[in-house]
Amino acid sequence: MDSKKFLLQEKDIPTAWYNIVADMKTKPRPIINPGTKQPLKPEDLFPLFSEEASRQELNTTDAWIEIPDEVREMYRIWRPTPLVRAAGLEKLLDTPAHIYFKNESVSPVGSHKLNSAIPQAYFCKKQGVTNITTETGAGQWGAALSLAAKHFGIELAVYMVKISYEQKPYRRSIMQTYGAEVIASPSMSTKAGRKIITDHPNYQGSLGTAISEAVELAMSTPNCKYCLGSVLNHVALHQTVLGLEAEKQMEMADEYPDVVIGCFGGGSNFSGISFPFMRHNFAGEHKTRFVAAEPASCPKLTRGVFQYDFGDEAGYTPLIPMYTLGHNFAPANIHAGGLRYHGAGSIISQLKHDNLMEAVDIPQLESFAAGVDFARCEGIIPAPESAHAIAAAIREAKRAKEEGKKETILFNLSGHGLIDMASYDRYLAGDLTNYDVPDAEIKANTDMLEKII
Ligand SMILES: *Cc1c(COP(=O)(O)O)cnc(C)c1O
Repeated sequence: MDSKKFLLQEKDIPTAWYNIVADMKTKPRPIINPGTKQPLKPEDLFPLFSEEASRQELNTTDAWIEIPDEVREMYRIWRPTPLVRAAGLEKLLDTPAHIYFKNESVSPVGSHKLNSAIPQAYFCKKQGVTNITTETGAGQWGAALSLAAKHFGIELAVYMVKISYEQKPYRRSIMQTYGAEVIASPSMSTKAGRKIITDHPNYQGSLGTAISEAVELAMSTPNCKYCLGSVLNHVALHQTVLGLEAEKQMEMADEYPDVVIGCFGGGSNFSGISFPFMRHNFAGEHKTRFVAAEPASCPKLTRGVFQYDFGDEAGYTPLIPMYTLGHNFAPANIHAGGLRYHGAGSIISQLKHDNLMEAVDIPQLESFAAGVDFARCEGIIPAPESAHAIAAAIREAKRAKEEGKKETILFNLSGHGLIDMASYDRYLAGDLTNYDVPDAEIKANTDMLEKII
């Protein structure tokens, strides 16, 4: 393993996040009120989110938003993270391409999610909020928010997708160790949960349902806000800290990426690694390609429709312009729990619509094969989610080889898989399968959407 690391110092942690919306020629369509269809103002979001997060969500003018000292202070626990030249993987693939990855797995909770959990908890704390609720898929976001909430002295209730609650019991223990309350979703504790349990008694849960439960609890509890770990603009904003670091580190390596890749659930780590580089495409300085790697079983960017949809299953959230499979789409029980979400955030959806980025879908078995290859030559066992980015990077490296091109490929390693070993066990035992989504299923779910676009 002769992989080479590029390290920054604490002083190099960015002092501002990059708000790509300010630089987009075509802005994302506005988030709207489902009843009036009017664009939301920050005040409309105050009941749900912290005021600062609400303002960031709708900020279309400031390209740089300062990172508060309290947040940078906590980032210092593990940031800056390493950028690594994956020489072992290059050798395995015998490719002329240079492959780099940004290692976000070194955070205390093992993923990039802490980058947004800290500011979201901090903004709640700053305005005197005492309780927050959230949802979690594989448990990564819940773990990150549990740590951040504890740090700022806020109580947290987490709705965890039932299938993950059972598949990933250690993530539940992690959240409980940090002091959060964890509830398997769908649960009987909310109206949304009771309805779906009544309609589908064996339903194993989805992020969309868990979000409905968390939103419902936040809206019905005094001095309680809701935090979301992906999809929204302010979450993408916070994640740019990782791409901004990677930009400096690529300079240290004296290279610039031809392709930037991130796995794709709701879009936060992909946004984080891509947006800082995308601004140089906007300025005409580079022609980097940006590739989102989503699971074939939940293909919103490659096969979904561009339409207004709810962010959750019950329809409690505002309407978001998104590539979506429909909020009722029930994704297969793949092991990359963090990628089981029906839609993409509004910024990403606009960028995709305008052909400023691409998407590929990766079958489950290809993702695990890539994860195992990566573990064997780079030493890090990737999260099943991150393995989708690795699989896409491998496809690009093979293509570069066929075309005889010395390309530079950068992907984000969004997390490690040390809490996902039950999934690797099943893969190694040959128990996992691919899932096909029939066109008719996508059509049935997207046909139900109101045609606003
Ligand atoms: C949550 C998660 C993802 C997917 O979420 P995005 O918002 O699309 O980044 C990917 N990788 C890991 C490790 C995660 O925890």
